[in-house]
Amino acid sequence: MSCYREEPKKAHFIIVPLPVQGHLIPMTDMGYLLAERGICVSLVITRANADRIRPIIERAKELNISFEFVELSFPNEMFGLPPVCESLDHITDTGLFRAFFDAIYSLDEPLETFIDSLERPPDCMITDMFNAWTAPVARKFGIPRVIFHGPSCFYISTEYNLAHHKVYDRVINENEYVTVPDFPIELQVTKAQTPGFLNSPIFEDHFRKKCLQEELRADGVVINTFLELERPFIENYERLIGKKVWTVGPFCLYNKDDEMKVVRGNKDAIDQKNRVLTWLDRRDAASVLYISFGSTVYTNTQQLMEIGRGLEASNKAFIWVMKKIEITPVVEKWLDEGFEERTKERGLIIVGWAPQVVILSHPAVGGFMTHCGWNSLLEAISTGVPMITWPRIADQFVNENFVVDVLRIGISLGVTVPNYGTEDVIMVKSEEIRKAVDVLMDGIEADEKRQRSKDISEKAKKAVEEGGSSDVDLADFIHYFTEQRNKLASGDDIGA
Ligand code: UDP
Repeated sequence: MSCYREEPKKAHFIIVPLPVQGHLIPMTDMGYLLAERGICVSLVITRANADRIRPIIERAKELNISFEFVELSFPNEMFGLPPVCESLDHITDTGLFRAFFDAIYSLDEPLETFIDSLERPPDCMITDMFNAWTAPVARKFGIPRVIFHGPSCFYISTEYNLAHHKVYDRVINENEYVTVPDFPIELQVTKAQTPGFLNSPIFEDHFRKKCLQEELRADGVVINTFLELERPFIENYERLIGKKVWTVGPFCLYNKDDEMKVVRGNKDAIDQKNRVLTWLDRRDAASVLYISFGSTVYTNTQQLMEIGRGLEASNKAFIWVMKKIEITPVVEKWLDEGFEERTKERGLIIVGWAPQVVILSHPAVGGFMTHCGWNSLLEAISTGVPMITWPRIADQFVNENFVVDVLRIGISLGVTVPNYGTEDVIMVKSEEIRKAVDVLMDGIEADEKRQRSKDISEKAKKAVEEGGSSDVDLADFIHYFTEQRNKLASGDDIGA
């Protein structure tokens, strides 16, 4: 029985994430966090996504935390998608993206059916910015709707300032650098790197406009960041959007429960945990480089082997996460016929899903080669790990800028052109990888970056501690959307 049925006086929030790991993970974290703070939380999720993180529900039950899944079936067949194609990382053919989004946008009816089944509408709906389809549902039931933005405020502000000043109207060459106007710092970007939210022909009219319009109509915005990290950019975005922005992260730091850290995103990581920790425990402090490029972008066969050659030449210890789809017959042969053997004393390869936060939190990890997804950056920032940056798409180029130029805790590999990974090109040569690994892991520059990373991670920890900026903003967020319910529960006449 759900808590909002058993305890009707308690506040009830529903959370509607986008089924993309980099969005679903922080929104699940946020839901769990709200439930720990006494809210009844329903996470609206499709079955295959729920199966991946089911241990979270079991843990919530054990600890008597009011966190539940509302499981919707995903209309794969209806939209011509293969079975179990419910998260962006299930899709290897980019030609299916449009159908995937169409399928997501058809979930409004089952969501309405769920809300209709409740005795009273929830007190708040927190929904991904890209889930504009939830807005009419929220309006129909009179539910306040807050949007969750997946990226950093640094990136969001960049996009808004570019759009606000119509900068791209004057741009002919999409690889030409332009200055972001009215921005707190000097920042140069290209249109190819920073094309705007969902700004591709497959999304253009259909989703993009709706998402931007519904953002303007939302009752507020919640972001996984913290004030001390991004203050000028948070203020910039808040000014442009003209509504309250709650910054309540980093979510990965609230969770002190090791079991929960391991199942973040995918319970498959449980199988890796002991192997990885035993391996890391034998290493010196800050001696291991962790390499992972998130959940959505790929590394093609030639590039993957090029990274391997760079790692071999660097002679440093490493944990390298490869996606199952990247293990082509050529890669398999290359791994079996020498690479694994030659690096077995100092290298660990994980094929599939790694327990990323557990790895980054280990004292033996001293560097992170990353594609610059915002969650990965925030996790490295939270654990005090400096980075080698290799952006591929979306917000990642601007995020790189933030890490390398603003925070000064990263070394760029110098990639300036977007690449999703499906094109068979080598973007970074092994020698460049070797050099970056050497600079990040050893020497004066490495020590400085590591120290700065530690200092920023201390600020992140303070932000989520009792009385810290994120803790206070979270309390304010809860208060804002529960005040009415609490008044009703205590018998006050809210109309007085
Ligand atoms: N992640 C993980 N294990 C993996 C790959 C990714 O736990 O093997 C998590 C990572 O910790 C992060 C999220 O997946 O929370 C990826 O989000 P990010 O914004 O970094 O990149 P995206 O996947 O959206 O490109």
